[in-house]
Amino acid sequence: MSEKLYEVQNWASLFLENHNREPRVAEILIQHHLNISRSQYFMMMQDEIPEEKIKRIKVDIQRHAETGIPVQHIIGYEWFYGRKFAVNEHVLIPRPETEELVEHVINQVKNEPLTIADIGTGSGIIATTLKLELPQTTVYASDISEKALEVAKRNAETLHAEVNFLKGDFLQPFVEGNIHIDVLVSNPPYIAKSEEKLLADTVKNFDPSLALFAEEEGLAAYRTIIEQARQIPNLKRMVFEIGHAQSTAVHQLIQTNFSESKIQIIQDINGKDRIVSACL
Ligand code: GLN
Repeated sequence: MSEKLYEVQNWASLFLENHNREPRVAEILIQHHLNISRSQYFMMMQDEIPEEKIKRIKVDIQRHAETGIPVQHIIGYEWFYGRKFAVNEHVLIPRPETEELVEHVINQVKNEPLTIADIGTGSGIIATTLKLELPQTTVYASDISEKALEVAKRNAETLHAEVNFLKGDFLQPFVEGNIHIDVLVSNPPYIAKSEEKLLADTVKNFDPSLALFAEEEGLAAYRTIIEQARQIPNLKRMVFEIGHAQSTAVHQLIQTNFSESKIQIIQDINGKDRIVSACL
């Protein structure tokens, strides 16, 4: 039997709420299956939905509610800075906070023809967005995971961004290849293993551990990158996304390795420390 869109939406939201899941997932899955935009969705509330579509929507709602699989893994993408990026289990799902990191870099670089490196690129959101927003720059991206690089390359290609991808441990391929960088940007793994229990099951069971966790209370990736960065001659700026309680520690790591640096801590829309930006 066919149902109206609002009936499907009511059923889905209630089902999700009863399983302690975000009701907004209903909207995302329905829009995906009906291949409609957000505004079409609100205009179609009284429309009959074909039974076949309802079945598929219900299967996905149940799967998400019962297993915690992120909706982005079901539909295969997430939006970032207004563009659609493919994601899968090999990459971190893009977070809105990272849009603020990208915005900051765009404002810093402006029209300068600099070389930017995105370290630990994952799905490639940072590198691809920067190349598209700052076409005069040269953009590199590295990751240690071959599977992540496959996703990142596919995203850059689909969105027609010319990004140079390198496989390796953070800055190692740049050091080995003598590649010049002006601006380093990174959203590395920064969660302490001891905090795993605080994460939602949608995160801890589905985002790759390699993308989430770091040793030394979550600071190991920053330490490695900052220490490696000393081997990059004439590096001008370093911009990191951080965990909200890590600003002092990351500040200190930078200061210890680059004593002349001027360091800025920037808060996200929720007022939490989220970006460390250092002029070296
Ligand atoms: N750079 C990617 C992102 O910002 C991946 C980050 C990560 O895996 N820690 O989403």
